[in-house]
Amino acid sequence: MRITFLGACKTVTGSMHLVEAGGRKVLVDAGMFQGENEELNWQELPFDPGSIDIIILTHAHLDHIGLLPRLVKEGFRGEVITHRANIELARIMLEDSIEVQKEDILTENRRRARRGLPELGLLYDEEDLRKAMGLFRRGVNYGEEIELGGGTTIILHDAGHILGSAFVELNRGERRAIFSGDIGNLGKPIIRDPATPRKADLVVMESTYGNRLHASVRDTVEQFRKIIAETFERGGNVIVPSFALERSQDILYYLRELYEEGNLPEGRFFLDSPLAIEATEIFRAHPECYDQEARALFLEGKDLFSFPGLRFIRTVEESKSLNSIRGRALIIASGGMCVGGRIKHHLKHHIWNEKNSLVFTGYQAKGTLGRKIADGAEEVEIYWERVAVRAQIHMLEGFSAHADQTGLTEWCAAAEPGAVVLVHGEPDAQEELAQRLAERGISARAAERGEQIEI
Ligand SMILES: [Zn+2]
Repeated sequence: MRITFLGACKTVTGSMHLVEAGGRKVLVDAGMFQGENEELNWQELPFDPGSIDIIILTHAHLDHIGLLPRLVKEGFRGEVITHRANIELARIMLEDSIEVQKEDILTENRRRARRGLPELGLLYDEEDLRKAMGLFRRGVNYGEEIELGGGTTIILHDAGHILGSAFVELNRGERRAIFSGDIGNLGKPIIRDPATPRKADLVVMESTYGNRLHASVRDTVEQFRKIIAETFERGGNVIVPSFALERSQDILYYLRELYEEGNLPEGRFFLDSPLAIEATEIFRAHPECYDQEARALFLEGKDLFSFPGLRFIRTVEESKSLNSIRGRALIIASGGMCVGGRIKHHLKHHIWNEKNSLVFTGYQAKGTLGRKIADGAEEVEIYWERVAVRAQIHMLEGFSAHADQTGLTEWCAAAEPGAVVLVHGEPDAQEELAQRLAERGISARAAERGEQIEI
């Protein structure tokens, strides 16, 4: 089989790999570039989407699925294969992506006009998405073997990253390649830890946190509790930019736990994201993906994602009304990297005031507003206004949905791989991870965009 790396090469977004085997063309992921590489989403595709037979989606984050409707718009008519929980998640994520694009494109085109560049159109619209959703013909379970034709089979295994996330085991004759998708952090709530991969000739592996070690989930929850208590004590609010999918549900799960233990500081709690609220409903509908603890609570009839004092905010009016709350409120809003969504309004109203806290709970890609703030910017531009950054900034990587260096190394070593190609990471992270793997006798290197390998 031949593999061509088309995205997420020496960067964390835009995952897309082409596998050609037995006369079939299969794409693993159809991800969007986010942050500094966004313009790449509009560039001409290096293949004819009409020639692709199957697209396998590892999970429903946009950097893995965001270009699917564009591929459909440009002729893809094959089948989309993904874990059953991902189908509805993909729909809501892609619907939201269209809304975010509509919002962003106006600003972007004004900027392009000033530079004398041609206008950009939307990558795809509702009709392209409707057609794309028609290509999800079956819901797949973990461990199920699926024939792709031409003597190639795949099995999706639990990647423990977000609900429905999978790594892909691709088998052809004696040969086996594994595509990690995104590998989850150990001890995450709700979903199971990543499954152990079988022995493989090649592992194509993410490397997001290849140079980081996360604090334990337990310690991170305690740190989070302290930040909330201290901020409420000094009369401030806590703002939590959060990915709508998984991170928001994880945080609700932790807050509910703190509440039940009697450790949640008294205050008001808001989930201000219609997308995260929808995603939460999908989480409730898929208990087959839960880990033991979540499953036990579910069987007791407990609501995993709710506690007294929590409100779900749906309308824009309700969201705006949160601006007048002075102190003792925690607002979870999307998006997680502060690129779009309601979080930008909350930042504008909160980050200039040193009483407030801003708590990042996930990876901030280069070029995003979140990354600028996390990197210590003293002033940022939000909706055409300069805003001083005076709030306390916290980074809780222990809440990450991604495995850290140890997690990645152990997971990869279990596959006893003949070779490892690193994707989905920045060069520093990849170099350090390659060194760690070399110490375990595993040879790994980073993929170049457009590079092809045969196994
Ligand atoms: Zn992901």
